[in-house]
Amino acid sequence: MIKEIKVKTALSPSKLPGLDYALNPYRGCEHACVYCYAPSVIHWDKGRWGELVEVKVNLPRILSKELRLKKKGVVGLGTVTDPYQPVEKKYEITRRCLELLLMHDFPVCIQTKSPLVLRDVDLLKKFTNIEVGVTLTTLDESVREKLEPGAPSVNDRLRALSELSKNGINTWVFLGPVMPYITDTDTIIEVIAEMKPRYVLVDRLKLKEGIWDRVREFIHKSYPQLLSEYEAIFVGGDDYYRGVFEKILKKCKERGLRCDVNILQG
Ligand code: SF4
Repeated sequence: MIKEIKVKTALSPSKLPGLDYALNPYRGCEHACVYCYAPSVIHWDKGRWGELVEVKVNLPRILSKELRLKKKGVVGLGTVTDPYQPVEKKYEITRRCLELLLMHDFPVCIQTKSPLVLRDVDLLKKFTNIEVGVTLTTLDESVREKLEPGAPSVNDRLRALSELSKNGINTWVFLGPVMPYITDTDTIIEVIAEMKPRYVLVDRLKLKEGIWDRVREFIHKSYPQLLSEYEAIFVGGDDYYRGVFEKILKKCKERGLRCDVNILQG
């Protein structure tokens, strides 16, 4: 379901590394990823995540006012929603925000799972400072369908990454969250190395409020054979990620990829 809403503010301060502001054109996300922690960040209390998206229809107008007053800083576009989820095709809120950010020459960092970002290549090319991150958690489409049921296919994401690079836009890959025993990290690194992203950002599964219950339910239903391993890691405190992150760092080094690993538990 889609609902139009009006907001009073556009840019909010961001504590995420490398970002000064967060800008989210939508509340909610049709991609409905099992591991999404956005609902706990925005205190979502409007039913199952993915079923409702609120469109901030007046966001460009508010942003336009704020950009005249705010100190220039890096804007993270899509920190708790995907700015290129399907509803963007119709509303173009992300595109209109980009036009304004370009006009004021603000640096921008986009994160998405969608090839719809390619629609805006004409704008992206004009920025002095912009980078686009594409998220990959698996290369196996049958896994993707279970984990990120409303999100674009693996091939569509790889196409987006490749086309962005071909157009001279700085790209990065968000390899995460690494789902224990499910995310095929070696294969992902092999494939993306060919596309030469500027760097890879790796993250663990973050167990913010409510996520463990959702993940546990998902594992129980889709990968029952992994349930005891997941419980050992996320309830028992098994240090699964140390070894996996070491392996990822080694592999990235071999393939000449800069790799940043988020070692913080969250
Ligand atoms: S694409 Fe991002 S914001 Fe949307 S559901 Fe997935 S993890 Fe959450």
